[in-house]
Amino acid sequence: MRVYNFSAGPAVLPLEVLEKAQRELVCFEDAGMSVMEMSHRSKAYMKIIEEAEAKLRSLMNIPDHYKVLFLQGGASLQFAMVPMNLMVGSKKADFIDSGVWSSKAIKEAKKFGKVNVIASSKSDTYSHIPTYKKSQFDKDADYVYICENNTIYGTKFKTLPETGDVPLVADLSSCIMSEVIDVTKYGVIFAGAQKNLGPAGVTVVIIREDLVGKADEIIPTMLNYQTHVDNDSMFNTPPTYAIYMLKLVFEWVEAQGGVAAIEARNKEKAALLYDFLDQSELFKGTAAIEDRSLMNVPFVTGDEVLDAAFVKSATACGLVNLKGHRSVGGMRASIYNAMPIEGVKALVDFMKAFEIEHKEAMK
Ligand SMILES: *Cc1c(COP(=O)(O)O)cnc(C)c1O
Repeated sequence: MRVYNFSAGPAVLPLEVLEKAQRELVCFEDAGMSVMEMSHRSKAYMKIIEEAEAKLRSLMNIPDHYKVLFLQGGASLQFAMVPMNLMVGSKKADFIDSGVWSSKAIKEAKKFGKVNVIASSKSDTYSHIPTYKKSQFDKDADYVYICENNTIYGTKFKTLPETGDVPLVADLSSCIMSEVIDVTKYGVIFAGAQKNLGPAGVTVVIIREDLVGKADEIIPTMLNYQTHVDNDSMFNTPPTYAIYMLKLVFEWVEAQGGVAAIEARNKEKAALLYDFLDQSELFKGTAAIEDRSLMNVPFVTGDEVLDAAFVKSATACGLVNLKGHRSVGGMRASIYNAMPIEGVKALVDFMKAFEIEHKEAMK
Protein backbone atom coordinates (compact mmCIF):
# COMPACT_ATOMS: atom_id res chain seq x y z
CA MET A 1 0.00 0.00 0.00
CA ARG A 2 1.31 3.47 -0.83
CA VAL A 3 1.62 5.94 2.04
CA TYR A 4 1.58 9.73 2.16
CA ASN A 5 5.29 10.50 1.93
CA PHE A 6 6.29 13.88 3.40
CA SER A 7 10.01 13.33 2.73
CA ALA A 8 12.13 16.42 2.03
CA GLY A 9 13.92 14.56 -0.73
CA PRO A 10 14.09 12.30 -2.58
CA ALA A 11 10.39 12.93 -2.40
CA VAL A 12 6.95 11.88 -3.53
CA LEU A 13 6.37 11.54 -7.28
CA PRO A 14 2.98 11.68 -8.98
CA LEU A 15 1.40 8.23 -9.03
CA GLU A 16 0.39 8.69 -12.68
CA VAL A 17 4.07 9.26 -13.54
CA LEU A 18 5.21 6.13 -11.72
CA GLU A 19 2.50 4.09 -13.41
CA LYS A 20 3.42 5.39 -16.85
CA ALA A 21 7.10 4.62 -16.17
CA GLN A 22 6.05 1.14 -15.06
CA ARG A 23 4.09 0.54 -18.27
CA GLU A 24 7.08 1.71 -20.34
CA LEU A 25 9.79 0.17 -18.16
CA VAL A 26 10.49 -2.98 -20.15
CA CYS A 27 9.64 -1.73 -23.59
CA PHE A 28 9.50 1.97 -24.48
CA GLU A 29 7.05 2.72 -27.28
CA ASP A 30 8.27 0.85 -30.39
CA ALA A 31 11.94 0.87 -29.38
CA GLY A 32 11.87 -2.76 -28.26
CA MET A 33 13.89 -1.93 -25.16
CA SER A 34 13.81 0.02 -21.92
CA VAL A 35 14.86 3.69 -21.87
CA MET A 36 17.64 2.51 -19.52
CA GLU A 37 19.05 0.29 -22.27
CA MET A 38 19.12 2.88 -25.03
CA SER A 39 22.13 4.65 -26.43
CA HIS A 40 21.94 8.28 -25.37
CA ARG A 41 22.67 9.15 -29.00
CA SER A 42 19.86 7.04 -30.44
CA LYS A 43 16.98 8.74 -32.24
CA ALA A 44 14.51 7.50 -29.65
CA TYR A 45 16.51 8.91 -26.77
CA MET A 46 17.29 12.21 -28.50
CA LYS A 47 13.55 12.71 -28.79
CA ILE A 48 13.13 12.17 -25.04
CA ILE A 49 15.80 14.67 -23.97
CA GLU A 50 14.67 17.23 -26.52
CA GLU A 51 11.08 16.93 -25.32
CA ALA A 52 12.18 17.22 -21.68
CA GLU A 53 13.97 20.48 -22.46
CA ALA A 54 11.14 21.84 -24.62
CA LYS A 55 8.55 21.09 -21.91
CA LEU A 56 10.69 22.66 -19.20
CA ARG A 57 11.17 25.76 -21.35
CA SER A 58 7.49 26.07 -22.03
CA LEU A 59 6.35 25.38 -18.44
CA MET A 60 8.80 27.87 -16.93
CA ASN A 61 8.63 30.31 -19.82
CA ILE A 62 12.41 30.22 -20.26
CA PRO A 63 13.57 32.75 -22.88
CA ASP A 64 15.82 31.69 -25.76
CA HIS A 65 18.85 33.51 -24.38
CA TYR A 66 18.92 31.09 -21.45
CA LYS A 67 20.54 27.66 -21.80
CA VAL A 68 19.05 24.59 -20.14
CA LEU A 69 21.45 21.89 -18.94
CA PHE A 70 20.86 18.44 -17.45
CA LEU A 71 23.91 17.70 -15.31
CA GLN A 72 25.02 15.30 -12.59
CA GLY A 73 26.59 15.88 -9.19
CA GLY A 74 23.47 17.28 -7.55
CA ALA A 75 22.87 20.81 -6.34
CA SER A 76 26.02 20.33 -4.25
CA LEU A 77 28.28 20.28 -7.31
CA GLN A 78 26.71 23.57 -8.40
CA PHE A 79 28.02 25.09 -5.16
CA ALA A 80 31.46 24.68 -6.77
CA MET A 81 30.61 25.00 -10.47
CA VAL A 82 29.01 28.41 -9.98
CA PRO A 83 32.13 30.08 -8.53
CA MET A 84 34.44 28.15 -10.90
CA ASN A 85 32.54 29.53 -13.88
CA LEU A 86 31.34 32.89 -12.64
CA MET A 87 33.91 34.22 -10.13
CA VAL A 88 36.12 35.33 -12.96
CA GLY A 89 35.84 39.14 -13.12
CA SER A 90 36.43 40.91 -9.81
CA LYS A 91 36.58 37.45 -8.19
CA LYS A 92 34.11 38.70 -5.57
CA ALA A 93 30.59 37.51 -4.87
CA ASP A 94 27.87 38.53 -2.40
CA PHE A 95 26.02 35.82 -0.49
CA ILE A 96 22.95 35.82 1.75
CA ASP A 97 23.25 33.06 4.33
CA SER A 98 19.77 31.65 4.95
CA GLY A 99 20.69 28.14 6.08
CA VAL A 100 22.83 25.05 5.75
CA TRP A 101 22.56 24.92 1.95
CA SER A 102 23.73 28.50 1.47
CA SER A 103 26.49 27.94 4.06
CA LYS A 104 27.74 25.01 2.02
CA ALA A 105 27.71 27.15 -1.11
CA ILE A 106 29.64 29.85 0.75
CA LYS A 107 32.24 27.34 1.88
CA GLU A 108 32.82 26.17 -1.70
CA ALA A 109 32.90 29.68 -3.20
CA LYS A 110 35.60 30.73 -0.72
CA LYS A 111 37.94 28.35 -2.52
CA PHE A 112 37.67 30.43 -5.69
CA GLY A 113 37.45 34.06 -4.64
CA LYS A 114 36.35 36.63 -2.11
CA VAL A 115 33.02 35.86 -0.51
CA ASN A 116 31.10 38.67 1.12
CA VAL A 117 28.29 37.44 3.37
CA ILE A 118 25.80 40.32 3.26
CA ALA A 119 23.50 38.95 5.93
CA SER A 120 22.85 35.77 7.91
CA SER A 121 20.06 34.46 10.12
CA LYS A 122 22.27 31.78 11.65
CA SER A 123 21.97 33.21 15.18
CA ASP A 124 18.18 32.67 14.98
CA THR A 125 18.59 29.06 13.79
CA TYR A 126 17.68 30.33 10.32
CA SER A 127 14.02 30.67 11.30
CA HIS A 128 13.64 33.68 8.98
CA ILE A 129 15.14 35.14 5.83
CA PRO A 130 17.96 37.50 6.87
CA THR A 131 17.31 41.21 6.44
CA TYR A 132 19.59 43.15 4.14
CA LYS A 133 19.69 46.45 2.31
CA LYS A 134 20.11 46.93 -1.39
CA SER A 135 23.00 49.30 -0.63
CA GLN A 136 24.97 46.41 0.88
CA PHE A 137 25.49 44.78 -2.51
CA ASP A 138 28.85 45.32 -4.15
CA LYS A 139 28.38 46.77 -7.65
CA ASP A 140 31.63 45.06 -8.67
CA ALA A 141 30.62 41.60 -7.54
CA ASP A 142 30.55 38.84 -10.14
CA TYR A 143 27.20 37.67 -8.77
CA VAL A 144 24.82 37.65 -5.83
CA TYR A 145 23.88 34.25 -4.43
CA ILE A 146 20.76 33.08 -2.57
CA CYS A 147 19.13 29.78 -1.65
CA GLU A 148 15.56 30.72 -2.51
CA ASN A 149 13.67 28.09 -0.52
CA ASN A 150 15.29 26.77 2.63
CA THR A 151 14.24 23.14 2.75
CA ILE A 152 15.36 22.53 6.33
CA TYR A 153 13.82 25.62 7.99
CA GLY A 154 10.78 26.16 5.77
CA THR A 155 11.64 29.73 4.79
CA LYS A 156 11.48 31.31 1.35
CA PHE A 157 12.55 34.59 -0.25
CA LYS A 158 9.18 36.20 -1.11
CA THR A 159 10.93 38.97 -2.99
CA LEU A 160 14.21 38.59 -4.81
CA PRO A 161 17.13 40.86 -3.99
CA GLU A 162 17.44 43.75 -6.44
CA THR A 163 20.92 43.28 -7.76
CA GLY A 164 20.89 45.68 -10.70
CA ASP A 165 23.39 44.59 -13.34
CA VAL A 166 24.94 41.98 -11.07
CA PRO A 167 23.56 38.52 -11.95
CA LEU A 168 21.51 36.71 -9.34
CA VAL A 169 22.36 33.03 -8.80
CA ALA A 170 19.73 31.00 -6.99
CA ASP A 171 19.42 27.48 -5.63
CA LEU A 172 15.82 26.48 -6.38
CA SER A 173 16.24 22.80 -5.51
CA SER A 174 13.18 22.68 -3.25
CA CYS A 175 10.90 25.20 -4.96
CA ILE A 176 11.48 24.92 -8.70
CA MET A 177 8.19 24.73 -10.62
CA SER A 178 6.15 25.25 -7.43
CA GLU A 179 5.22 28.80 -8.42
CA VAL A 180 5.31 30.95 -11.53
CA ILE A 181 8.63 32.81 -11.66
CA ASP A 182 10.24 35.32 -13.98
CA VAL A 183 13.38 33.59 -15.21
CA THR A 184 14.79 36.87 -16.54
CA LYS A 185 15.30 38.05 -12.94
CA TYR A 186 18.05 35.44 -12.58
CA GLY A 187 21.48 34.87 -14.08
CA VAL A 188 21.62 31.22 -13.02
CA ILE A 189 18.99 28.91 -11.55
CA PHE A 190 19.91 25.40 -10.47
CA ALA A 191 17.99 22.59 -8.81
CA GLY A 192 18.63 18.97 -7.90
CA ALA A 193 15.67 17.09 -9.37
CA GLN A 194 14.78 14.94 -6.38
CA LYS A 195 12.48 17.43 -4.63
CA ASN A 196 10.05 18.75 -7.18
CA LEU A 197 11.05 17.41 -10.58
CA GLY A 198 11.86 13.73 -10.53
CA PRO A 199 14.26 11.15 -9.15
CA ALA A 200 17.77 11.88 -7.85
CA GLY A 201 20.61 11.81 -10.35
CA VAL A 202 19.96 14.83 -12.53
CA THR A 203 20.41 18.52 -11.80
CA VAL A 204 18.72 21.19 -13.86
CA VAL A 205 20.77 24.32 -14.62
CA ILE A 206 19.21 27.33 -16.35
CA ILE A 207 21.88 29.84 -17.26
CA ARG A 208 21.84 33.15 -19.12
CA GLU A 209 23.84 32.79 -22.31
CA ASP A 210 26.30 35.62 -21.61
CA LEU A 211 27.40 33.96 -18.35
CA VAL A 212 28.66 30.90 -20.20
CA GLY A 213 32.23 30.75 -21.50
CA LYS A 214 33.91 32.98 -18.94
CA ALA A 215 35.71 30.27 -17.01
CA ASP A 216 39.44 29.80 -17.01
CA GLU A 217 40.39 26.96 -19.38
CA ILE A 218 42.32 25.32 -16.56
CA ILE A 219 39.14 24.09 -14.87
CA PRO A 220 38.09 20.48 -15.53
CA THR A 221 36.24 20.10 -18.81
CA MET A 222 33.27 18.44 -17.09
CA LEU A 223 32.91 21.40 -14.70
CA ASN A 224 32.81 24.06 -17.41
CA TYR A 225 29.26 25.10 -18.34
CA GLN A 226 30.54 25.79 -21.87
CA THR A 227 31.25 22.07 -22.37
CA HIS A 228 27.66 21.15 -21.63
CA VAL A 229 26.20 24.05 -23.61
CA ASP A 230 28.29 23.11 -26.66
CA ASN A 231 27.18 19.49 -26.43
CA ASP A 232 23.51 19.89 -25.45
CA SER A 233 24.17 18.08 -22.15
CA MET A 234 25.61 15.17 -24.15
CA PHE A 235 29.36 15.69 -23.70
CA ASN A 236 29.31 12.37 -21.89
CA THR A 237 26.49 9.98 -21.05
CA PRO A 238 23.81 12.02 -19.32
CA PRO A 239 21.61 10.45 -16.59
CA THR A 240 19.31 9.11 -19.28
CA TYR A 241 16.61 7.49 -17.16
CA ALA A 242 16.36 10.39 -14.69
CA ILE A 243 15.89 12.78 -17.64
CA TYR A 244 13.16 10.52 -19.04
CA MET A 245 11.43 10.70 -15.64
CA LEU A 246 11.66 14.50 -15.74
CA LYS A 247 9.89 14.42 -19.09
CA LEU A 248 7.06 12.40 -17.55
CA VAL A 249 6.81 14.80 -14.59
CA PHE A 250 6.72 17.78 -16.98
CA GLU A 251 3.89 16.10 -18.92
CA TRP A 252 2.08 15.62 -15.62
CA VAL A 253 2.51 19.31 -14.72
CA GLU A 254 1.11 20.22 -18.15
CA ALA A 255 -1.87 17.95 -17.54
CA GLN A 256 -2.49 19.69 -14.19
CA GLY A 257 -2.87 22.97 -16.08
CA GLY A 258 0.73 24.16 -15.90
CA VAL A 259 2.73 25.94 -13.22
CA ALA A 260 0.04 28.57 -12.43
CA ALA A 261 -2.46 25.81 -11.63
CA ILE A 262 0.15 23.95 -9.57
CA GLU A 263 0.89 27.18 -7.68
CA ALA A 264 -2.78 27.69 -6.82
CA ARG A 265 -2.97 24.13 -5.51
CA ASN A 266 0.28 24.51 -3.56
CA LYS A 267 -1.11 27.65 -1.90
CA GLU A 268 -4.28 25.82 -0.97
CA LYS A 269 -2.32 22.89 0.48
CA ALA A 270 0.04 25.11 2.49
CA ALA A 271 -2.84 27.25 3.81
CA LEU A 272 -4.60 24.14 5.13
CA LEU A 273 -1.56 23.22 7.19
CA TYR A 274 -0.56 26.72 8.31
CA ASP A 275 -4.14 27.64 9.27
CA PHE A 276 -4.29 24.57 11.45
CA LEU A 277 -0.88 25.31 13.02
CA ASP A 278 -1.89 28.91 13.77
CA GLN A 279 -4.91 27.93 15.82
CA SER A 280 -3.48 24.77 17.40
CA GLU A 281 -2.74 24.83 21.13
CA LEU A 282 -0.27 21.97 20.78
CA PHE A 283 1.57 22.41 17.47
CA LYS A 284 3.48 25.48 16.43
CA GLY A 285 5.11 26.40 13.11
CA THR A 286 8.77 27.38 13.53
CA ALA A 287 9.36 29.62 10.48
CA ALA A 288 8.70 33.37 10.59
CA ILE A 289 5.16 33.88 9.25
CA GLU A 290 6.19 36.38 6.55
CA ASP A 291 8.83 34.00 5.17
CA ARG A 292 6.85 30.75 5.19
CA SER A 293 7.63 28.25 2.45
CA LEU A 294 4.90 26.63 0.36
CA MET A 295 6.95 23.45 0.14
CA ASN A 296 8.47 22.65 3.54
CA VAL A 297 6.53 23.17 6.76
CA PRO A 298 8.48 22.60 9.99
CA PHE A 299 6.60 22.48 13.29
CA VAL A 300 7.07 21.41 16.91
CA THR A 301 5.05 20.65 20.02
CA GLY A 302 7.73 22.14 22.24
CA ASP A 303 8.34 18.76 23.86
CA GLU A 304 10.87 16.43 22.20
CA VAL A 305 9.35 13.30 23.68
CA LEU A 306 5.92 14.25 22.38
CA ASP A 307 7.43 15.11 18.97
CA ALA A 308 8.90 11.61 18.77
CA ALA A 309 5.57 10.06 19.82
CA PHE A 310 3.80 12.07 17.12
CA VAL A 311 6.20 10.97 14.39
CA LYS A 312 5.87 7.37 15.48
CA SER A 313 2.08 7.24 15.53
CA ALA A 314 1.82 9.24 12.29
CA THR A 315 4.07 6.66 10.63
CA ALA A 316 1.84 3.86 11.88
CA CYS A 317 -1.08 5.65 10.17
CA GLY A 318 0.67 5.89 6.79
CA LEU A 319 1.90 9.49 7.17
CA VAL A 320 5.64 9.01 6.83
CA ASN A 321 8.94 10.92 6.86
CA LEU A 322 7.63 13.68 9.14
CA LYS A 323 10.72 13.82 11.32
CA GLY A 324 12.45 17.21 11.12
CA HIS A 325 15.99 17.59 9.79
CA ARG A 326 18.59 16.30 12.22
CA SER A 327 19.98 19.82 12.68
CA VAL A 328 16.69 21.34 13.93
CA GLY A 329 14.59 18.47 15.33
CA GLY A 330 10.79 18.56 15.61
CA MET A 331 8.71 17.74 12.57
CA ARG A 332 8.67 18.81 8.94
CA ALA A 333 6.04 18.13 6.33
CA SER A 334 7.35 18.56 2.80
CA ILE A 335 4.37 19.12 0.54
CA TYR A 336 5.91 19.29 -2.91
CA ASN A 337 3.94 19.51 -6.17
CA ALA A 338 3.25 15.76 -6.21
CA MET A 339 1.74 15.66 -2.69
CA PRO A 340 -2.02 15.47 -3.26
CA ILE A 341 -4.27 17.74 -1.20
CA GLU A 342 -5.78 14.57 0.30
CA GLY A 343 -2.37 13.89 1.89
CA VAL A 344 -2.32 17.31 3.56
CA LYS A 345 -5.94 16.85 4.72
CA ALA A 346 -5.04 13.45 6.18
CA LEU A 347 -2.10 15.01 8.01
CA VAL A 348 -4.19 17.87 9.45
CA ASP A 349 -6.91 15.42 10.53
CA PHE A 350 -4.30 13.26 12.21
CA MET A 351 -2.77 16.29 14.00
CA LYS A 352 -6.23 17.36 15.21
CA ALA A 353 -6.91 13.90 16.62
CA PHE A 354 -3.46 13.75 18.21
CA GLU A 355 -4.02 17.13 19.86
CA ILE A 356 -7.40 16.08 21.33
CA GLU A 357 -5.91 12.81 22.58
CA HIS A 358 -3.02 14.69 24.15
CA LYS A 359 -5.37 17.13 25.92
CA GLU A 360 -7.36 14.23 27.35
CA ALA A 361 -4.15 12.67 28.64
CA MET A 362 -3.08 15.97 30.28
CA LYS A 363 -6.34 16.22 32.30
C1 LIG B 1 18.43 19.03 -1.15
C2 LIG B 1 19.04 20.36 -1.37
C3 LIG B 1 20.37 20.51 -1.78
C4 LIG B 1 21.31 19.33 -1.96
O1 LIG B 1 21.03 18.71 -3.14
P1 LIG B 1 21.93 17.50 -3.69
O2 LIG B 1 21.29 17.25 -5.02
O3 LIG B 1 21.80 16.37 -2.72
O4 LIG B 1 23.33 17.97 -3.79
C5 LIG B 1 20.85 21.78 -2.01
N1 LIG B 1 20.05 22.86 -1.86
C6 LIG B 1 18.78 22.75 -1.44
C7 LIG B 1 17.95 23.98 -1.28
C8 LIG B 1 18.23 21.50 -1.18
O5 LIG B 1 16.96 21.39 -0.78
